[in-house]
Amino acid sequence: MKFNCGLCGSNKNKVLNKRDAKSFEHLKIAICLNCSLVQQENLPNDEVLKIYYSHNYREDYKKTYTPKLKHIRRAGLAAKSRISFIKNNIKNISNMKLLDVGAGGGEFVYLASKNGFDAQGIEPNVGYSSFARDQYGVNIKTLTLNELKADTVNIITLFHVFEHMANPQKVIEKLSYILKKDGYLLIEVPNIFQQDASPHNIFFKAHLFYYSKYTLISAASKFFDVVQIDDKGNLKILFKKKSNSTKSIKLPSKTALDETLNRLHQKGWLEYLTKGGGLLKPFKKIKQKYCESLIKHLTPKKLLDSL
Ligand SMILES: [Zn+2]
Repeated sequence: MKFNCGLCGSNKNKVLNKRDAKSFEHLKIAICLNCSLVQQENLPNDEVLKIYYSHNYREDYKKTYTPKLKHIRRAGLAAKSRISFIKNNIKNISNMKLLDVGAGGGEFVYLASKNGFDAQGIEPNVGYSSFARDQYGVNIKTLTLNELKADTVNIITLFHVFEHMANPQKVIEKLSYILKKDGYLLIEVPNIFQQDASPHNIFFKAHLFYYSKYTLISAASKFFDVVQIDDKGNLKILFKKKSNSTKSIKLPSKTALDETLNRLHQKGWLEYLTKGGGLLKPFKKIKQKYCESLIKHLTPKKLLDSL
């Protein structure tokens, strides 16, 4: 199959042999030598992905259709920090219509509603979306992006969803279409430069793209301006919809390619253990296990209310 970069369309690339973090199966990861985007060499088509995400994905990854309490707690804590990030960067959020794409078990939508947003979500997985509706009474529909109407929401969020999507630029265009004038877009993805991920926990067969701030900003650049970047761990970027889209995307600079190539070669255990806090991980795990042992009697809703 002929290689095409998902950002610039170039066919110049360098292929690296990697392994899936969970199954250890062989993965071919390509870096575009024109724009620095890192992606799987062969991308599956939309139809295959749709079937996979509506049925198989959660089972493959979590071995269950409904989330465990410890996962709800972790998702709830992540949701709280994401809500703070939004509130720190957008002045008036009261009654803002928020759409969470890939809402999973609904923890973020529930906590966002409690924090003043008019929040709803979409989630392709039938089991997770009905769990969210039953447990929290939240508005989460089993819809895809293509079924949503123009100019309907003020802020769209995607947490660890965008890296699973083929055709990033088509997705960005669709998100811009759904957003109202001056709307916001918050995307969080794994960060190719992050120091707090262990070297064997980087590549996943479900991740089609591996973004840096350079390539994520570039992917959005035709329709969105950057408001705020948080790239200390995972990459979080808050964007604002442009009043007029530009003709084409703005590609990353040449230095982005040098930095990314270096990164793919240098990522190692020493950095993770020292700068990435890897040495402290065992202690954090003990604390986490202790906290998770205290929640067994709670319902999912009571658990989220207690965070
Ligand atoms: Zn490229």
